[in-house]
Amino acid sequence: MSKVPVSFEWLSGCSGCELAVVDMHEKLLRILDAVEIVRLPILMDMKGYPKAALGIITGGLRTEHDIHCLHEMRKSCDRLLAFGVCSVYGGPQGSGYAHTLAELEDASYRTNPTTRTTFVPDQGVPKLLDGVRPIDSEVQVDLYLPGCPPHPYYVFEALSAVVEGREPEFGPQNVCYRCDRKMVHTDVTKLRRIHEGAMEADKCFLSQGVLCMGSATLDRCLAPCPTRGAPCTGCAGPSENVVLEPNRDLRTEIADRMSRITKIPREAIVREMELRSKTYYAYAMASPVFRQKPTFLLRKWISGAAS
Ligand code: SF4
Ligand code: SF4
Ligand code: SF4
Repeated sequence: MSKVPVSFEWLSGCSGCELAVVDMHEKLLRILDAVEIVRLPILMDMKGYPKAALGIITGGLRTEHDIHCLHEMRKSCDRLLAFGVCSVYGGPQGSGYAHTLAELEDASYRTNPTTRTTFVPDQGVPKLLDGVRPIDSEVQVDLYLPGCPPHPYYVFEALSAVVEGREPEFGPQNVCYRCDRKMVHTDVTKLRRIHEGAMEADKCFLSQGVLCMGSATLDRCLAPCPTRGAPCTGCAGPSENVVLEPNRDLRTEIADRMSRITKIPREAIVREMELRSKTYYAYAMASPVFRQKPTFLLRKWISGAAS
């Protein structure tokens, strides 16, 4: 049987998604029995865009060069898979929407004590877009695999499904589905941060007054954070109900749930999420789906945090 040609392209991202491919370990060898990787930046040296049955895009659109590369991939690949939360939603660079491009350039170059440049480089570097964008804002995308990065378990299932010509067996479960902590009613009256005192290992963070995004986050990670003692910050991207229902938002989802199981006022939880919105909204902020929600207030929330 001839192997399925698969091509990768790395746009504006951190390369953690490529590491997730390697992190399949011996399962990668099983994939390579059926797949020929014809292009994979970071892990192999290949110029040009060979024809492929599947194109896998990591990273989001942050520069004009990213747009050029994405179109080359769309032309050379039968199907495109948006791989990782950067590609699907824009990724953590979305927190840049809390500032103007000029402010970001100032912070990176003109007022940065380590670079101390009086100018922003514009020669030999691709031009920045106004903000990061998900890849489906530019081309048609056939498959989506969010996660930051997606867990190798899901990467293997996605590639196996492509090889076998079937749909991947991915459910709509959120991170709580994989977390053993018990969500119980408590008399906790105040929010607190994870470093402010010892936490109970078997009790849900929300029950203990600590924000955790697990119940509003799609499981594409197997919940490594809450099972190892850290609350979820939502890096895999929002759960399906938050994405698909216009009136649902991360603040209200978490605040409704947390205020029901504790004695913390709902308004206090909403306000805390607004003040830390660069963390909780960053991953999907660049998605048009999210900018139709109250996230357009992000700059107002951030300026409130500074005052
Ligand atoms: S999704 Fe996460 S791991 Fe992948 S490129 Fe973006 S920031 Fe890196
Ligand atoms: S909210 Fe967080 S700690 Fe609580 S069950 Fe869900 S993932 Fe676990
Ligand atoms: S922050 Fe949440 S979504 Fe991201 S890896 Fe941890 S548990 Fe998963």
